[in-house]
Parts: sequence; C-alpha cells; structure tokens
Amino acid sequence: MKREETAGVRIGLEIHCQLTALKTKLFCPCSSDYRGRQPNELVCPVCFGLPGTLPVLNGKGVEYAIRIANALGCKVAGETNFYRKNYFYPDLSKNFQISQYDKAGGVPIASGGHVQLGGKRVRIRRIQLEEDPGKLTYEGTIEKSSYSLVDYNRAGIALVEIVTEPDFETAKEAKVFLERLRSTIEALGVSDGELEGAMRCDANISVAGGEARVEVKNISSFREVEKALNYEILRQGTFSGTGGLAVSETRHWDERRSITISLRLKEGEQDYRYFPEPDIPAVILSQGYLEQVRSATPEVPEARAERYVRELNLAPQTAEELSRDEGLSLFFEETVRSFKKGPEIANWLLGEVPEQTRPKLTGEERSVTPQGLSELLAMLDSGRVTRPQAKEIFKQMTATGNRPSELKGSETEGVVADEGAIEKVVSRLIGEGEVAREAKRNPKAFNYLVGQVLRLEPRADPKVVAKTIARMIGEQ
Ligand SMILES: [Zn+2]
Repeated sequence: MKREETAGVRIGLEIHCQLTALKTKLFCPCSSDYRGRQPNELVCPVCFGLPGTLPVLNGKGVEYAIRIANALGCKVAGETNFYRKNYFYPDLSKNFQISQYDKAGGVPIASGGHVQLGGKRVRIRRIQLEEDPGKLTYEGTIEKSSYSLVDYNRAGIALVEIVTEPDFETAKEAKVFLERLRSTIEALGVSDGELEGAMRCDANISVAGGEARVEVKNISSFREVEKALNYEILRQGTFSGTGGLAVSETRHWDERRSITISLRLKEGEQDYRYFPEPDIPAVILSQGYLEQVRSATPEVPEARAERYVRELNLAPQTAEELSRDEGLSLFFEETVRSFKKGPEIANWLLGEVPEQTRPKLTGEERSVTPQGLSELLAMLDSGRVTRPQAKEIFKQMTATGNRPSELKGSETEGVVADEGAIEKVVSRLIGEGEVAREAKRNPKAFNYLVGQVLRLEPRADPKVVAKTIARMIGEQ
C-alpha cells in the first residue's frame, strides 16, 4: 500500500506525551506509576473529581512542559491558564478534562515553534498541559464488544499535547518527525517514550479533491502511524477519484486488521463547551523562572549537533550521527579538550569504533580514555605512526586499557620509512614478475600491492611504499 506520491495530501499531528518522569499526577498526590497495578488502585477524591475537592497544579509538570517547548523552539507564555473541556464519556469521572485552550481568553503554555527535518520545516502550532483520562478496556474489538471496563489509575496523569500545523505530505515524513520527537523528549529527561502508551498520536488527514478532514485517533506506535496514514491516504484518494466524498469524521485505527473504522462524525469545538477552570488560578511564568528552567534543561541531540557544526567544524551529517549517541558525544567533547582537531576525532569515533566496541569508550567496561585517544591521534597527525599502525594500537588500547605511551608492542616503535626494509617485503610479493607487470598496467593492481605490503608491515610509511613499488616495477 504505497501511495507516497499522492498529491495534495496534508497531514497534521497531535501527539500526547505522558510526563513519565513525574512521581505524581498533574493535579493530585496520587502516584503516576500506574503500569502493572491493579485497576483503580491509584485514585483519590481529587482525580475522581468528587465535590468539595480542589486540584493543585504539579509545578514540576509545568517545568517539564517548558523544557519541551524550549527544545521545539516555541514561545512560552508569560501567563497561562487552564480550561475545562466538557464531554460525557466513562473514561472521565468528572465529565470534563482539565486542559488548555487557545481561544476565548485561553492561553496554552507555549506556541509557535518549529522543527527542521532535513530541508523541511515542520511548524508547531501549540503545546499544552492537560490530564490523561482513564482507560477503557473492551472485550474483543471496540465495535463488537458488549461491555467495557474502566480503570482510573491513568486519570490525571500529566500529558503534554503537541500540535503541529498540517505540514506533512507523506506518512513517512510523519513517522520520521515522531521518531525525532521521541528522542528529543527522552533527552530532556521528562518522559520515557518506550513505555507502553507514553506517546500516542492522533492524525488529521485531508486529500486534495475531497473536502473532508478525517481524524484518526489513538495510534499506539510510530510504525502503526505510518500504516494508518497510508491506509487513510489510499481510502480517501479512492473516494475523490471516483467522484464520491469522504466525510469529516473521527476514525479508529484497528491494529489487528490494519484498517481504520468510523467512530463518530467529527465533533466541533463548540461541542466541548470550553470554559475557564474556576479552581485553578492563572499561572504566572516570570522571566527569571523561565531563565532558570532554560539553564537546567539538558541539551538535546539537535542542539548539540548544531553546536558541533558551529564551534567544532564538523560536517552536518557527522555532527548529527555523533550527537545521537550521548555517551560518544561526551567522549568526543572530552577528547577535543586535549586534541583540538574535532573532525578527525569524530571521524575516528564513527569510522574506526564499531558499535560493539563503543562500551569500551563510554560504558562500564570503559578501557579507552579520551586522553588515550588524544595521544593516539596526535601520533597519527604528526606522522609518527601510520593509519594501519594506529588502528592496531587502538585495538591494543581497547584490550589492555593502556595509553599508547604505555604499550610495549612494536606497533608503537615508529614508522618504517627505510626503503631497504620495504624493498624486501615488496620483492617477496612481486615474485616472478607477473604481479609487477599487472601492477604496471593497472592502477587497481598497484593499489592492491600497496595494501598487501602494509598488511605485512603495518608500520611502513604508505608514501614510501608506493614510491618503492613504483621504482621496483619500473626496473623490471
Ligand atoms: Zn488522585
């Protein structure tokens, strides 16, 4: 079902991200650690909304939402407020959800950011804080189940809702954005996106030729997002192609059958009768406070990559790849303090350190230190060792935990630039003359011969090797 090229597709995303790093819910002291608990174990009169109770806003929740806003380049409001979103559904025992609103006097915590995805700019319309509803469990499928069960442990868990403009044109773009968003949010230390249900996504899709705006609700994983969107693009495309019309509605993604099914006609905002939450006063976010949050916010991979390009001259792609691994980035930054050539360090880390060796630099099995690598790269840079030699030394460093100056092997004894010594190795390889004739005709064979010499004598200076071979085959 590949319809990536369908023209005029517009997709906007609404992502709900639980702030799983919080210990308690957004407006009450109930534990937020609800996974694996007995149903309805983590509830209190506040999250049930019983008469006479008052919600108290979790300050850490505000701080975490601001961290996300900063990372997505949004403008944080100086004063923000909460609204009631009214609807009758069993997952809300209060019949309303405490949320935020961007109209009629409502001010969400942040708005107007953007994320750069390669050449594409994805605009962020707003970020808001709200509470998660409870969870309904159906017997069998959602449409055939004769009853549903409700668990309020999740009711009141802090959610950050991130709303994008309809800037995506393919399902793939949406998926790439979501993966990037997840890694950003994890780097901020506010949420573990791997936990089941911690990041959920709704998508609005419209296809040119049809007036309909279809919302697909509650897609659980990013792999499913791509599948659900491609299904919807195809379904709506079929309608407009045959002169029929898709209707504006809310649909549910049925993972098991890989189809969307109609839930209800789309609600208008008026259906929710938004009004200001009378029990929570406006929240003032002073410049001083915002500055404090900003300085306490961990650097996300994207910002780190930009800094590497700007300050340490890395190529954008190298910077991006390096920044994705936090441990390796840290190692890189420590190394650059004693060996100033950032690009060379980065290329070594990404080119010469295979994935399975990385724990030797960053993990508990750490045996190579930034100082050790600096020493090695300085030797390579000044021509005291050749690249094959440096690779061999690096291998020994990972195995022994020693710095190059502490190693005893012959690899560290310096480059062999003596033509006489190299000549002996070359003549062993050239043998009867057929190899030499081939190397004379064919540059590939010549380079192969250089490689063979370096394999037998890793300390040989490659320039001297090439010169010696050229001279020797010329004589034949
Ligand atoms: Zn509670």
